[in-house]
Amino acid sequence: MNHAHDHDHRHGQQPEVLTKTSRPRKQEQEDASTEITEVAPGVLRSQLPISMPGLGHVNCYLLEDERGLAVVDPGLPGEESWVALVDRLGRAGHRVEDVHTIVVTHSHPDHYGGAARLRYETDADIVTHETSRTIWDTADLDDEEDSETLEINSVEDQAAAFERYFSRPNPWGGERSGPSPEFLERMRTAAETTGGTFAIPAPNAPLSDGQTIKLARREWTAIHTPGHTYDHLCLFDPEHGVVLTGDHVLPSITPHISGMTPQADPLAEFFASLHRMEGLEHVSIALPAHGHPFEDLAGRARDIIEHHEDRLDIVRGAWEQLPNGTVNDFMRVLFRERSWGDMAESETYAHLEHLRELGEMTRNDVDGVARYAPVG
Ligand SMILES: [Zn+2]
Ligand SMILES: [Zn+2]
Repeated sequence: MNHAHDHDHRHGQQPEVLTKTSRPRKQEQEDASTEITEVAPGVLRSQLPISMPGLGHVNCYLLEDERGLAVVDPGLPGEESWVALVDRLGRAGHRVEDVHTIVVTHSHPDHYGGAARLRYETDADIVTHETSRTIWDTADLDDEEDSETLEINSVEDQAAAFERYFSRPNPWGGERSGPSPEFLERMRTAAETTGGTFAIPAPNAPLSDGQTIKLARREWTAIHTPGHTYDHLCLFDPEHGVVLTGDHVLPSITPHISGMTPQADPLAEFFASLHRMEGLEHVSIALPAHGHPFEDLAGRARDIIEHHEDRLDIVRGAWEQLPNGTVNDFMRVLFRERSWGDMAESETYAHLEHLRELGEMTRNDVDGVARYAPVG
């Protein structure tokens, strides 16, 4: 229930910002503007609408060159996002046909979701980190060995796979609530515009760490930045100090760290990837996937590291009171009630596993549920 709204009704002229329950809006929450801004020569920021927890837009950067355009993170699947993308391309003086390359920074739907239709319409290359995996690649990993014999899934099958993927048990033994019916419906309708599939077409231009790619008349170096997702890719133009940071480094919110990865210690990987941002020399501007471009990339990377160090300290401060605590127990200490759920549990798990990898905690699985205790 929206208390702020309630309050308005009763008192008429009370502005929402004065109520106790509302927090100042973060820049990542701003609604998508139709404005196009040139953030570096040949690099344009456009914004596409998304509505996800804490996020109001995704930045879709347009990189211009003599061949046309590369787009970075073309937004969610679905008609609303597509219409916005076509509008933004037009405002930037381009047509859909100009797009020759689609860069996807990582395998989250607000970043890769629009790639399927864009590729369907333009045949553009799809650039990702070489480890890029969407749920489609993993959800359908049944026991079939010969992929040639597999039929392309119907949309219904894909939706079922999606549901199965998000309902699979947690590695810590909890239950997940799965995708919302609204989200599944959105995926179904989006599929109608891409020849009946809403899976991302296989990336056909994978980059490995250190490899370079020329876009917007600049040479970008691929930086593999696992953490937020394992397949996260940043691009760095060392000559002009421009960095496309995706969701790896955001200006005012801290990216979610998922414990649902095959990696033993995703938080350690995230720390290492943030240190790599700190180490980039002569950065003039960082271009995040949400929020405003900013300059102090190293400082922001340090802030995010500190944020997680603080959370680790909160766990250390709570473990005496939570003997053999579950992930859910620690989640309730780390997060406010309004955040409790799959994502908060997953992030808590990443912190507990990090402390276990550091040798500070032990894990005991009792009846399939992980329990954590301090060492000694
Ligand atoms: Zn993301
Ligand atoms: Zn995102």
